Amino acid sequence: MRAYDIILKKRNGEKLREEELRFMVEGFLKGEVADYQMSAFLMAVFFRHLDEEEAFSLTKVMMESGDKIDLSDVNGFKIDKHSSGGVGDKTTLVFAPLVSACGLKIAKMSGRSLGHTGGTIDKLESIPGFRTTLELNEFKDVVKEYGLAIVGQTANLAPADKKIYALRDATATVDEISLIASSIMSKKLAVGSDGLILDVKVGSGAFIKDLNDAEKLAKFMVEIGKKHGKKVRAIITDMNQPLGRMVGNSLEVLEAIETLKDSGPEDFTKLCVELSAHALEMAGMYSLEDAKKILHEKLRNGEALERFRKMVSAQGGDPRVVDEPTRILPISNEKLEVKAGKSGYISKMDTEKIGLAVMLLGAGRKRKDDTIDHGVGLEVLRKTGDRVEKGDSLVRMYVSEKSDIDGAKKLILEAYEISEDSNVEMPPLIYKVIR
Ligand code: URA
Repeated sequence: MRAYDIILKKRNGEKLREEELRFMVEGFLKGEVADYQMSAFLMAVFFRHLDEEEAFSLTKVMMESGDKIDLSDVNGFKIDKHSSGGVGDKTTLVFAPLVSACGLKIAKMSGRSLGHTGGTIDKLESIPGFRTTLELNEFKDVVKEYGLAIVGQTANLAPADKKIYALRDATATVDEISLIASSIMSKKLAVGSDGLILDVKVGSGAFIKDLNDAEKLAKFMVEIGKKHGKKVRAIITDMNQPLGRMVGNSLEVLEAIETLKDSGPEDFTKLCVELSAHALEMAGMYSLEDAKKILHEKLRNGEALERFRKMVSAQGGDPRVVDEPTRILPISNEKLEVKAGKSGYISKMDTEKIGLAVMLLGAGRKRKDDTIDHGVGLEVLRKTGDRVEKGDSLVRMYVSEKSDIDGAKKLILEAYEISEDSNVEMPPLIYKVIR
């Protein structure tokens, strides 16, 4: 077999066999397939695509390139969750304690922020002392004892995906649906959970801007998961405006804690309950309607909050964060407001620009090895559909001396579209469920 022939085959739009995909991926990982060959191959895939069967094989080969996390000694239905990335998306911080308060187990490996989107691991690390690197046995012990644990991905989880992703990032081949689906699923299938909830974000603040593409990605991932014997459900959800009101690491932990106290923003609470209800239904525990009632009760009676406190404590974090979040979290004291330049109705938000503004303040990374400031971020005071008068505050920025305040302010003002027309089309929170 030669890399040349496989590239040619894909370039001509032919279907590849698992052995051919394995040859490319394993060869690339060993250094036997050169960067330039893999780059050409990825570009051929970008234009010619992989069908579901090929994407399944690519996922399998990338998953098999590294460790598998065996959870067979953890009793109960083990659920996992993935979000394709958004702005203000702190859902895992509420989903995990909520479903675990209902009896599911969740051993979650999460990512860090990159570009305009945030990452769960950075958010958790804003809690003083919280350890996101645990040995596998300790990770499983926390899950066995308290029902949940959230850690960063181990270095050897689907290493082929890591190496290929870096090349995609440098060769403008990230946004190909079959490659995104294989990349996400290779990491998710390496962790031995029973079920997986996929939150596929669509809209101006997501990687996928178009609903048809989101649906295609969701279907690809559900099919790949099912073929691997996992229960998978994808929920396509809106990212045309930030989720909740807080964007930035400590600020999002604060909002997640408020939500666990049943006093969070309506959109964010609703999304957490919806995704959790699908997890409970998928596990065969309740109907969707009954699950939602029970989940709201777990928010009202403090059981979900207690799960969060236990996880924080078990992973070395300061559990007082639950009772006094604004004292314990390193939230910046320096605040500035960005004001509307005209009166009208907020008709649209370019949410990617909001995410980029937060990055300019210091909360995110342009490059993988950038350091971040956990204390900075934004409080989104006005959202789509709201009426504003000229001079009203749109956003409160939490800044530090290193923040690019002017750059962030410019992006925020560009992100808001204010129109005279009061007939604003409100994006739905949930578009579709792919079972
Ligand atoms: N997230 C991933 O893990 N991989 C992709 O290709 C895109 C988003």
